Amino acid sequence: MSCLNQGAEAAADTADEARSLVSFGSMQPRAPAATPAAARNGKRVKEAAVPPQGVYLPNNNVLTPQMRSPEYVQMSNAAAITLGIMPGRMHRCACTRCLNLLLTYPEGCRANCAYCGLARHREADRDYADRNFIRVDWPAVPMAEIVERVARDGIDSPFHRMCISMITHPQSDADTVSLLKAWTARIDPSTIPVSILSNPTTMERADVQRLRDLGADIFTVALDAATPEIFDRTRGKGVQSPHKWQQYWEVLLHARDIFGPRKFGAHIIVGMGETEHELLALVQQLVDLGGHSHLFSFFPERGSLMDHLPATPRDQWRRVQLARYLIDYAGVRLDQLGFDAAGRVVGFGLAAAELERIVVEGVAFRTSGCPGKFRDDVSACDRPYGDSPPSDIASYPFQPGKQDLRKIRRQLKIPVVRG
Ligand code: SF4
Repeated sequence: MSCLNQGAEAAADTADEARSLVSFGSMQPRAPAATPAAARNGKRVKEAAVPPQGVYLPNNNVLTPQMRSPEYVQMSNAAAITLGIMPGRMHRCACTRCLNLLLTYPEGCRANCAYCGLARHREADRDYADRNFIRVDWPAVPMAEIVERVARDGIDSPFHRMCISMITHPQSDADTVSLLKAWTARIDPSTIPVSILSNPTTMERADVQRLRDLGADIFTVALDAATPEIFDRTRGKGVQSPHKWQQYWEVLLHARDIFGPRKFGAHIIVGMGETEHELLALVQQLVDLGGHSHLFSFFPERGSLMDHLPATPRDQWRRVQLARYLIDYAGVRLDQLGFDAAGRVVGFGLAAAELERIVVEGVAFRTSGCPGKFRDDVSACDRPYGDSPPSDIASYPFQPGKQDLRKIRRQLKIPVVRG
């Protein structure tokens, strides 16, 4: 029999240096460069005005056609493969269960988030529809074609959920409404529920209410940063971006009131300079409000203002990933966890046998997100390899097998007691 030895005292004999610590000081983004006037606001694409024809597969060597929501949306590679729009296979995944749709405009997102491949500062070198986002390309597809294909599949659809991801654009609120209406006109939202990944910067309470009234099931806010300081540095004034921590929280609280318990949540990126305690305190705060957190491991997105910085060390990620699962789904509270002086998790607050059962089950290490049809703690949104390469998986887009779990145990760097 083997079990994980846990608790602050038991872990104290693990050398401190064996546990990674990503400091706030070490995660400074680059400053964005000025964009030449000829490339600003999608000018190149709009002036060429090439009409779109069917599906557009990102290719940086051609001039992007002029595509615009709500007629067009972009979708993840995984969703395009699952929908049969693109050929291909995903490493160890048969399909994705979430149809992630992203609003698209020649002007692109008007924000400048430092970790994001869609950020405005990339205007000079890539048209919006050609930009990589969470490590993959996003083909652009007519919304009518998507709805037609999903409606045709009916109850045989592989998708358990659809998600509209808003970006920062003056048309984003109105077009999200149009997309939701186009979907629900043909597809019963109780069969394939809809999540909204919101853009609080352009939203007010009435916008949140409207989306609920139109049949959206879950509303999430991409806080992304775990603290106001990191938010401001990576999404606000620090990178000439319009977002404000307070506005994000206001919209999150509107979502709590309007969507209700377990129907709202926040995205958080692990490893942008916060302590593990800070991040898990936010996870606890969200649970106390009645919501959930969806975690991502920081990965240096190519072309972003943080592409020179290291991905989150796996031991830090695994500790936070496991602790977040325990808070969200196993009734563990922040004050039951053990932390060292640097805020790193050294104890998981459960009896050894119970912790062992949860680790062996493996669900804690899968991608977190809005639920599908299997169980509440298994996300429909598996984002294959969105926060890591397949060679060093952070969020498992499938059920981890025995070999995966052996690797996870090594990454957790918790002493294993054999008896
Ligand atoms: S608002 Fe969203 S899409 Fe736009 S730059 Fe920030 S993270 Fe990227």
